[in-house]
Amino acid sequence: MPIQILSDTVAAQIAAGEVIERPASVVKELIENALDAGGGSITVEIENGGRRLIRVSDDGSGIAAGEAVVAFARHATSKLRTVEDLDRIRTLGFRGEALASIAAVSLTLMVTRHRDAAIGAEVAFEGGHLVSERPAGAPIGTVISVENLFFNTPARLKFLKSESTERRHILQLITQYAMAYPSVRFRLLQEGREQFHSTASGDLADVLVEAFGLEVFRDMIEVSPQPLNRPDLPPIEVYGFTSAPALNRSNRSQIVLFVNGRVIADQSLSYAVIQAYHTLMPQGRYPLAVLLITLPPEEVDVNVHPTKAEVRFRHADAVFAAVQRAVRRAVMDQAPIPPVQGDPYQPAWGGRPDWGELPPRPMVAGEQQLRMELESLAPGRFGHQRDDRTQFRPPDSASSFDPAAIPAGLGRPTRPRTLPILRVIGQVGAMYIVAEGPAGLYLIDQHAAHERILYEQFMERQAAMQPVTQHTLPVTTVEFSPAVARLVEENLGVLAKLGFDLELFGAHAFRVRAVPVLLADQDPHDILRLVAEDLESGVGPGETALEDKLTRRVCKAAAVKAGQTLSFDEMQGLIQQLERCESPRTCPHGRPTMLHISGDELARQFGRE
Ligand code: ADP
Ligand code: MG
Repeated sequence: MPIQILSDTVAAQIAAGEVIERPASVVKELIENALDAGGGSITVEIENGGRRLIRVSDDGSGIAAGEAVVAFARHATSKLRTVEDLDRIRTLGFRGEALASIAAVSLTLMVTRHRDAAIGAEVAFEGGHLVSERPAGAPIGTVISVENLFFNTPARLKFLKSESTERRHILQLITQYAMAYPSVRFRLLQEGREQFHSTASGDLADVLVEAFGLEVFRDMIEVSPQPLNRPDLPPIEVYGFTSAPALNRSNRSQIVLFVNGRVIADQSLSYAVIQAYHTLMPQGRYPLAVLLITLPPEEVDVNVHPTKAEVRFRHADAVFAAVQRAVRRAVMDQAPIPPVQGDPYQPAWGGRPDWGELPPRPMVAGEQQLRMELESLAPGRFGHQRDDRTQFRPPDSASSFDPAAIPAGLGRPTRPRTLPILRVIGQVGAMYIVAEGPAGLYLIDQHAAHERILYEQFMERQAAMQPVTQHTLPVTTVEFSPAVARLVEENLGVLAKLGFDLELFGAHAFRVRAVPVLLADQDPHDILRLVAEDLESGVGPGETALEDKLTRRVCKAAAVKAGQTLSFDEMQGLIQQLERCESPRTCPHGRPTMLHISGDELARQFGRE
């Protein structure tokens, strides 16, 4: 074929493909225009999943009659004049491509009346060509109807997904805009029937109740901006809601992020949210979150993606940190408080226990937590144990598990109780502790629970900069492969922080002088081999620092094993410490430490109801 310049029509269709990929893209562009025009009420009507009709009406500024046709020209925009304007874009649109693209691949009719005009205008396009233009009576605002989308681009039409898929995309899109703009009233009608509406109360919480339902929303936690005293960094605000750890999903699609009112896809920021749940959620489970991130427009480059779905940050690390900090704070502050009385709640693990679905965890008022605090001060409960637990005691190697050897951690007595008082009943299969609480029966995985306790104590000491107590060994030597030996050598500092005292001794061997006291009764060769394995596998996706990984390794190795018979006192000691853990419901690897069967559930299972 000889080289020829494409006709305007073909060029326009190709260009349109960049912006308009499916019916939801049309809805997105039209909603953004309505928002940019200051619309307070936006209605979207669709038929046949948007293929036959998409109509978006707003009560915004409208377009002057004289500009109605030019609005459909490519690169026609009222939102940007110079290249410098790009650096401080405050509108959702700026390229002047949407109306041109939409009109190129459909039959488009626009009726609009500018807020200062007495009469409106109506313009119609077919496959990009103007077919009519006339004055029209209309209320202030704009109505754009898009019919027979892709009628002239059969290839695109062929690749459209099913009607129900397109409908789902459109619903999701409108729900998301309603979240980002809680002061705007959104409505979606499908085949004339209302599918969604928001109330324009200005409160994100109201939109989330509409979007997720009250059941789900009840398990969401408000995220508020965490001020950061760093004048060198831009002000970054993070507001929204995120799920309590018990509420989770098998993929990350429910993490919705907005940057300056724009829905964005950002792997790294989603990961910041996921990471805030570190050790609180099992691996492979993801939170639900809706976060509105606000920062100065010059900090964000919105011009990097054809549909503006991705943005670039000038200070990406600061945005990452702000999101992670805000979510972590919210989850830590509110998530681990279980109900005290009566009401059953779900295990922290999102999995479904074998005895059927438990009702969702109800919100707990602060006053209930206070009551729990008072209860815990009852004589004979913790008082006598406090003093003799603030010291490390080298474990007696004859007894495999001595709860008194577990360091109590700093300030433990003042730590708020995070579980109701549990009464130990016994042990099952040398693996699980059976306990009774005010809200029913608890099965506690002794190994996972002990791991959690040790991990938090370790972290607490670390945070307080307390040196880890070591256990000095009769000198032994451990040998590694050359590659692993280099890794160990490189990480001697991290290992020392955890309580390992190693010294290079020959080419690939190390002399072991001391190990963390928690591991005093274990074979140092075994432990160091596991540590070496961790060093070798490095920090993978979903994991944070190596130091944290090794800490978890130490706690896992030190924790009481499954299969170990525990005395009543040992069980009691373990449960009492678990009751004061910050996150008692999961082990540091995110698996559940306990299952709970409510009194109601027992009654139901026994047919007493
Ligand atoms: P952009 O939004 O990038 O400017 P568009 O092609 O989406 O480009 O729209 C072109 C212009 O038409 C906009 O700049 C705006 O001035 C006007 N416009 C489009 N939709 C509306 C609307 N709903 N209300 C008022 N003006 C609108
Ligand atoms: Mg636009």
